[in-house]
Amino acid sequence: MSVETRAHTALHVVKGAIVKVLGDGARWTAGTSVDGAHGRITVQFDRKPTDEEVREIERLANEKIKEDQPVDIHVLSRAEAEARWGDLVYDLFPLPPHITELQVFHLPGWNVNACNKEHTPSTGGVGELAITKTRFRNNKQLLEVSFDLV
Ligand SMILES: [Zn+2]
Repeated sequence: MSVETRAHTALHVVKGAIVKVLGDGARWTAGTSVDGAHGRITVQFDRKPTDEEVREIERLANEKIKEDQPVDIHVLSRAEAEARWGDLVYDLFPLPPHITELQVFHLPGWNVNACNKEHTPSTGGVGELAITKTRFRNNKQLLEVSFDLV
């Protein structure tokens, strides 16, 4: 597995941990990026998280990695995906209407997201990660969480 595949899969694991710790208010992803072993996820949120919350996100993400939970990849019609998961499969910025078939990344109980990228077969493939930085942009109500694979 390439480091990019591992870091990309980590985005889903970190996103799940963010929602576990900060709640549904953090459920909308506004952007993601991966550069080598470094990843960043940006979610809509209304405040700066505490240091304790950030440490808890990191702890839960690493716990999920250690658990080595298998990743489910589904390819299904958009209508079927919406029937199963509602708008949880979507990010903040909607997919264009002409896309009628989705590949969906699903880590049951943790994260579900329409995503056509490559993933590790299970969370253990990510390896350990460390949250290196968070940045809250109050004017845009966006929280950026950056991490490195370690
Ligand atoms: Zn993905």
